[in-house]
Amino acid sequence: MPELVDSLNCPKCGGPLKLGPGDVIVTCPYCGTASRLRSGTPFLLRHGMLTARLDRAAATAALESWLEGGFLKPADLRRASRVTSLECVYVPFFVFEVDVKTSYAGVLTRTGTNERRAGTVPRDYFWKVLGRRGSDFPVREYKLPLAYKVPFDTAGMLPESRFLNAEFDEEEAVRIVRQEVEAHERELLKDLVDVVEEARTEAAVKDAEFLHAPIWLAGYAYRDREYRIVLDAASGEVVRGDIPPPTGGLGEFLKDAGRGIFGR
Ligand SMILES: [Zn+2]
Repeated sequence: MPELVDSLNCPKCGGPLKLGPGDVIVTCPYCGTASRLRSGTPFLLRHGMLTARLDRAAATAALESWLEGGFLKPADLRRASRVTSLECVYVPFFVFEVDVKTSYAGVLTRTGTNERRAGTVPRDYFWKVLGRRGSDFPVREYKLPLAYKVPFDTAGMLPESRFLNAEFDEEEAVRIVRQEVEAHERELLKDLVDVVEEARTEAAVKDAEFLHAPIWLAGYAYRDREYRIVLDAASGEVVRGDIPPPTGGLGEFLKDAGRGIFGR
């Protein structure tokens, strides 16, 4: 028998929960309590959010200033573009503080002599894991502006914003963070040795938090094509913006460049 997931209520205030198909950690739209679906264990992580400092008008202004110009952008981008969609979405993240120690042994070959190297490198990280599966959100480019963090409160959310629940819980997020940190440490070893013979990373998760970050997702049309801009509603930074290719193809681009050089 299929589960009637849409009939669930908040364990704290009894309010009806809004559920998406893959949701696992659900936040109550009335009291803001985060709870775990289909499980007897409560969700205990601290739940924070980032303050949205850009309302719709400020977001529009930020988009227009981004379209105004900059490296590799067509000269008429601002003039010939029109913002076609703009929506604020609260995106869920798990944020971990991780203490890492990587022990390695290997050989340095770049000096021409095969020098043996070994050692232990300690590091610590604040590492974020996006709480959604199969999303194309630019996680790597996005720097969580933790300076704007406050306790989660539905009253502090921007009006008419969309809210995303997490599609997996903190246990799975811890597995992901361990894998990602290990891969990252492995990458960093390439600075120390050219041939890695042994590497072992111990990662201790010291602190974990659940966090919702407000993001403006915008679409704009330029010369009959659609492009996307992802804008951080807390910091005001453009996380990623699609830039159209130079107008008219390479021929016109070269002609323009020539005009610049010969002053015609
Ligand atoms: Zn509630």
